[in-house]
Amino acid sequence: SKPILEVRDLKVSFKMHAGEVQAVRGVSFDLNKGETIAIVGESGCGKSVTAQTIMRLVPTPPSFIKSGAIVFDGKTDIVKLNEKQMEKVRGNEMGMIFQDPMTSLNPTMTIGAQITEGVIKHEKVSKSAAWKRAVELLSLVGMSNPEQRVHQFPHELSGGMRQRVMIALALACNPKLLIADEPTTALDVTIQAQIIDLLRDIQKKTDTSIILITHDLGVVAEIAQRVIVMYAGKVVEQGTLDEIFYESRHPYTWGLLKSVPRLDSDRNSELESIPGSPPDLYAPPVGCAFAARCPYAMKICKEQDPGHFHISDSHSAACWLNHEDAPKVGRPVGAGG
Ligand code: SF4
Ligand code: MG
Repeated sequence: SKPILEVRDLKVSFKMHAGEVQAVRGVSFDLNKGETIAIVGESGCGKSVTAQTIMRLVPTPPSFIKSGAIVFDGKTDIVKLNEKQMEKVRGNEMGMIFQDPMTSLNPTMTIGAQITEGVIKHEKVSKSAAWKRAVELLSLVGMSNPEQRVHQFPHELSGGMRQRVMIALALACNPKLLIADEPTTALDVTIQAQIIDLLRDIQKKTDTSIILITHDLGVVAEIAQRVIVMYAGKVVEQGTLDEIFYESRHPYTWGLLKSVPRLDSDRNSELESIPGSPPDLYAPPVGCAFAARCPYAMKICKEQDPGHFHISDSHSAACWLNHEDAPKVGRPVGAGG
């Protein structure tokens, strides 16, 4: 069957006083029905802008879509929709979960009233039917005593509970696509695990496709079937979970993998992060954007963009080391596997 989402050569920039920030510089990927993909990378790599552009939630101006297509459900090009048309898609077919639930919850309404409102916007049902559905949704997201919970206000709930309410709210429209942007980052480890379990459970029960945006590869391993690694506004590697964790072909991914705490070692052990910082996206470098931080950088890396090397039907990497004439370097110990 057709993918639920086809992103083709998407370019998004921000017009600022100092010039144009090229936040997303030609991103392409597919999302299949019922699949979870993770988009990973450091902050500022363009992962959130990509996700928000799919929902057309990035304010224009200052942002603008320079080029590309985002084909949803095999027919609609999101890029071409006006705000009114987009509102329909957003309310009926896509849901979004943010890091901070308070950004999407209304502090002055009970959670029952908010979810009911979401349901009624989407379906022609009576108020009492919508209220019943709100209770069902709260129970679907694992809240105990949902009949009592509906009467509570957001501030009466813990952070983890608020996150569950936001997920219920996102599910109120039966979305075909759920975008979760760092949904667990603000939560403590135990609650994080519960929310991840919940997303996995929801996917089994509803067959929703999920895009998970995160900088945490530990979370990725728990839930995603495929992984897209972004750096400086581009996809630098994509593959199945196993291809990325065990057969990665990009030094940036190796660096990310080295900073994942291992389950079999001390969780508090010092994490190794990648030295240096990403390039200035006002004037992105020619060649590989990772070259300034890459321990394997060669002369060609600074001169020419590597493009995408095809590794398998599901795996590609934008790194010159995959060229047949490149020196053979081994993946460093500790980088996954
Ligand atoms: Fe490093 Fe060159 Fe590969 Fe870029 S293309 S990641 S600089 S080896
Ligand atoms: Mg972000």
